[in-house]
Amino acid sequence: MKYLIQKFGGTSVGTAQRIKDLVHLTVNRDPKIVVLSAMSGTTNALVGICEQLYKRDMAAAATQIAALREGYDKVISELFTTPEFLTKGKQLLDNHFNHIQSFTLDMFTVNEEKAILAQGELLSTALFHFYLEECGIASVLLPALNFMRLDEREEPDMNYIRKHLNKELELHTNSIFFITQGYICRNTYGEIDNLKRGGSDYTASILGAAIDASEIQIWTDIDGMHNNDPRVVSKTHPIHELSFDEAAELAYFGAKILHPTCILPAKKANIPVRLKNTMDPKAAGTLIANILTSEGVKAIAAKDGITAITVKSDRMLLAHGFLRAVFEIFERHKTSIDMITTSEVAVSLTIDNAQHLKHILEEINEIAHVEVDENQTIICVVGQLPKNKSGLGFKVLEALKDIPLRMVSYGGSSNNISVLVGSEYKTTALKALNRGLFNYN
Ligand code: ADP
Ligand code: ASP
Ligand code: MG
Repeated sequence: MKYLIQKFGGTSVGTAQRIKDLVHLTVNRDPKIVVLSAMSGTTNALVGICEQLYKRDMAAAATQIAALREGYDKVISELFTTPEFLTKGKQLLDNHFNHIQSFTLDMFTVNEEKAILAQGELLSTALFHFYLEECGIASVLLPALNFMRLDEREEPDMNYIRKHLNKELELHTNSIFFITQGYICRNTYGEIDNLKRGGSDYTASILGAAIDASEIQIWTDIDGMHNNDPRVVSKTHPIHELSFDEAAELAYFGAKILHPTCILPAKKANIPVRLKNTMDPKAAGTLIANILTSEGVKAIAAKDGITAITVKSDRMLLAHGFLRAVFEIFERHKTSIDMITTSEVAVSLTIDNAQHLKHILEEINEIAHVEVDENQTIICVVGQLPKNKSGLGFKVLEALKDIPLRMVSYGGSSNNISVLVGSEYKTTALKALNRGLFNYN
C-alpha cells in the first residue's frame, strides 16, 4: 500500500477553525499519514517559557505558561461542541500544562527544554485527533516518539525509523488515516529531541522516504515556492516546478517555506514533494521532483547569520595539503562549510554555526593568519544556469553593483550563484536582484 504524506504547518493548524478546515483537505479514501506542526506561536511561546526557566525567573515563566494555556482554553471551547469532548479537551490541556508546569520545580537542563518544546506538536495532533473523533471520523494517532530517532551523528536513523514506523502501522491494519507529530524525535540515547526549528517539513520527508510514499505534500500559508522572499520584496510569483537540486539549494540557502535539509530524504528516495496552500487549496503550488526544469534563474534566497573566515598563509603558495589541514579543523569541530573562494595565498569560507568558532580559530592560528567577519548573509541565485550562454554572471553582478560584495561563488554547481554580503545589505540586494533578474520594480 502506498501512503500519501500530508504535512500542515503552524498557520494551517493555527486556530480552531483551521483545525476544522483540515477535514476537507485530508479526509478521503487515500491512505495517508498527516504530519502536524504545533499551532502557530506555540513553539515560540515554549521557547520563551524555557528562557525564563533557564533564568530561574519562575514568576515570568508562570505568567507565560498561563497566557499560553488561556489561548488553548479558547481553542478547546471553539473546537468541540459536545460536553464529552469539551471535557476530553480540558483533560488533555491539564495533562500537558501540568507537565510543563512540573519543570518549574527542579533544575532546568537542555533535556527538560526539549521535553517542553515537544508539547506543541503533541497538543496539535491530539486536538485534531479528538476533533475527528467528535465528527465520527476514524483516525489513528501515531506517537512520533515511538519511531522518529536520530543516530549518534544526529542524523535521522532511517533503518530504525522504517522498522518502528512499519511496526506501528501494522498494529492498525484496518486503518488508512494516520496522524503524527512533526518536529519531535528521540536522540540516540532515547531522550526527547527535535529536528530544529521548522523541522516538521523534515519529519514529513523522512517519513515519506521511510515508507516509500506516493508523494510528500507540504501544506502552508502560501501558494508554493516563490521566486524571492515575499517577506522582503513586494512582487513575487510562485514557481510551478523545481528539480530536487534547485529546491534543495533554495531550502538550504534560506527559503523559509522549506526546512533546510528536508529535500534530501525525498530526493534520495525519489519521492515528489508538492508545496500547497492551505488557504487556497486549488492553487497549483510547486512540484519538486526528479525533473529537468527549464533553463534560467528560478529564484533567489538569502541566509542570515553567516560568519566569513579568511585564512591567509604564504605556505599555501604552491603547496599541497594546506587546504586539507584547514578543512580538517572544521571537520574536527563538526562545523560544516557553505561557501568557499580561494586565491593563491588565501581561502575564504563561510559557516552558519559559530558554536565552535573560538576553538576553530585557535587551531587555524597555529598554521595561518586568520580574519573573521560576522553578521554576513549569503544571497543565492538558483536555477538551471545556462552552460554555453554568456551574460548571467554579469546580470547578477550588475544588479548588485552598488553593494559591497565579500565573496562570490560561481561554477560550484549548475544550479547556484552565491554572493556574500554584510547582513545590512540583504534587503537592498534581494530587491536589486528582483529588479535585475525578474524585472520587478
Ligand atoms: P509553516 O508554518 O507552514 O511551516 P513557514 O512560515 O515555515 O510555514 O513557511 C512559509 C513562509 O515562508 C511563507 O509565509 C513565506 O513568508 C516564507 N517564505 C520565505 N521565502 C519564501 C519563498 N521563496 N517562497 C515562498 N515562501 C517563502
Ligand atoms: N513547531 C516547530 C517550529 O515552530 C516545528 C515546525 O513548525 O515545523 O519550529
Ligand atoms: Mg515551516
